[in-house]
Amino acid sequence: MTVRTGTARLGPEERGTALAQMAARELDVVVIGGGVVGAGVALDAVTRGLSVGLLEARDFASGTSSRSSKLIHGGLRYLEQLNFDLVREALQERALLLQRIAPHLVRPVPFLFPLTHTGWERPYVGAGLALYDSLGFSFGFTRGVPGHRHLPRRRALRLAPALRRSAFTGAVQYWDAQVDDARYVMTMLRTAATYGAHVASRTQVVGFLREGERVTGVRVRDLEAGTELDVRARQVVNATGVWTDDIQELVGGRGQIHVRASKGVHLLVPRDRIHSLTGIILRTEKSVLFVIPWGRHWIIGTTDTRWDLDRAHPAASRADIDYVLEHVNAVLSVPLTRDDVEGVYAGLRPLLSGESEETSKLSREHMVAHPVPGLVMVAGGKYTTYRVMARDAVDAVAHGLDQRVPRSCTDRIPLAGAEGYQALWNARQRLAVSSGLHVARIEHLLQRYGSMIGEVLTLIEEDPSLARPLAGADDYLRAEIVYAATHEGARHLDDVLARRTHISIETFHRGLAVAQEAAELIAGPLGWGEEQVRREVEYYTKRVEAERLSQEQDTDQEADAVRLGAPDVVPAVVPRSA
Ligand SMILES: Cc1cc2nc3c(=O)[nH]c(=O)nc-3n(C[C@H](O)[C@H](O)[C@H](O)COP(=O)(O)OP(=O)(O)OC[C@H]3O[C@@H](n4cnc5c(N)ncnc54)[C@H](O)[C@@H]3O)c2cc1C
Repeated sequence: MTVRTGTARLGPEERGTALAQMAARELDVVVIGGGVVGAGVALDAVTRGLSVGLLEARDFASGTSSRSSKLIHGGLRYLEQLNFDLVREALQERALLLQRIAPHLVRPVPFLFPLTHTGWERPYVGAGLALYDSLGFSFGFTRGVPGHRHLPRRRALRLAPALRRSAFTGAVQYWDAQVDDARYVMTMLRTAATYGAHVASRTQVVGFLREGERVTGVRVRDLEAGTELDVRARQVVNATGVWTDDIQELVGGRGQIHVRASKGVHLLVPRDRIHSLTGIILRTEKSVLFVIPWGRHWIIGTTDTRWDLDRAHPAASRADIDYVLEHVNAVLSVPLTRDDVEGVYAGLRPLLSGESEETSKLSREHMVAHPVPGLVMVAGGKYTTYRVMARDAVDAVAHGLDQRVPRSCTDRIPLAGAEGYQALWNARQRLAVSSGLHVARIEHLLQRYGSMIGEVLTLIEEDPSLARPLAGADDYLRAEIVYAATHEGARHLDDVLARRTHISIETFHRGLAVAQEAAELIAGPLGWGEEQVRREVEYYTKRVEAERLSQEQDTDQEADAVRLGAPDVVPAVVPRSA
């Protein structure tokens, strides 16, 4: 093992090295799935001293982990269901993430809870939020967010003038936290790679290596090269979210965990369409609807409906969009229309399947199982508690390894960019002067890269044209696009526009106006010629057109059929079952 100095890059060269390393020798652990859970398992295992590989069939975080509500929260809904342990655990994670593990990526966000009844509702909601606040204290940490406060309607309207006066009687404001979900996963993978994990995207597990009953590794297809390789490992971890059952089938065993998918759709609208200084949470008949501040936008969602169709590209239908608009419009004085919608995304919750419960009641708790020797399955849970899931999965790995493995230490491992972030934040004015960038830009960069900001600024020093914003998505600098390919594992245009940045949902053009410029910027680092640039732009354009058209369809079936009309630039393959 070589000891690395500095943060690992996830560029094309590093991907090649990672695959070669994985093929060369037997690892302690190989993880299938590069969502938040798989990335968490890789970091947990490598920081316990184990040798680790991670394989992701698509882009990192391209499954559920880039399509969430982006909240790090205990979940008021679970409090109402009296699931105090789940809420306490999640709130302790919130405190840890905010204050130690990723202060550059996770930040507090306020929500207004409008009350609609006089009398019983204020004491009921107030008591719930007081409990929520108190469960948020964690050993050695403060809560990390302010406590709740009661507001009469007049003061609530001052905070959120967009609310219709007659829609509520008063309000309570409380605080939670939010995260750029895709960026967090990628940063965690860079952190794991820094500690020595080998990680590769666009590598699909298509089969298992066996010695009798025991799983001894995986057969992997490098989807970019079209070649296959074997990765041997003493333990394999299945962290594939809504694909869990497929992997179970691949191993040929009847699984102990069954995961079913529930679709949640979010809309983005420009910030000026809702005049409010705070996020808002609304009750719906089945669950809650959030209006979440997100840079110069609001994220509004979500829905909760069963989904049995394509899992790589869950499609939002007209009905989903209408549902979200109808519920938010119930409290707004100026209603939103479809013309206000800049972006739409749909994600699938990996729910541990119960007998015949409705999806919104299925458990959010996680499960770890050891169905056959050499294989650990981990599924369920939620984004906020990924670290606990990862710890439990690696405990099961340790059990299977039959050797002494140190305890999990990820509660003390800050992610790449966290160390030194606070000092740089305090010095942001000076950084602005020395870099020639506006302080607002420096703030934006610090909140995306933390103390790795220097790497982005170096690109600008080397090529000052990279200091310009993208023409058509001016929240992002051209340097950020290049950096996505050189350091952050982006391999295709879609990776850059949908996950390293969120241009695909933050602009009315959904990325089409910047596709050519962005493709040309990453062409150099990714070794593309003109033909590949043309192909990437064409695939991206088709994707956007298919998504837009699917959002005009009335039913899930119609929306799915239309969305599937746009193929992936690197399609996954249909694996052979054992
Ligand atoms: C609408 C919605 C809102 C949510 N909001 C929140 C929230 O605000 N806060 C919160 O805490 N939680 C939230 N969640 C839950 C949270 O997002 C998920 O629990 C979490 O992201 C699941 O992560 P995962 O790693 O299990 O799955 P995924 O992110 O889906 O990762 C699984 C990965 O496995 C890969 N894979 C599959 N098969 C293979 C194979 N054969 N070989 C290699 N790789 C493979 C997939 O490509 C995928 O990237 C939300 C979920 C949804 C859907």
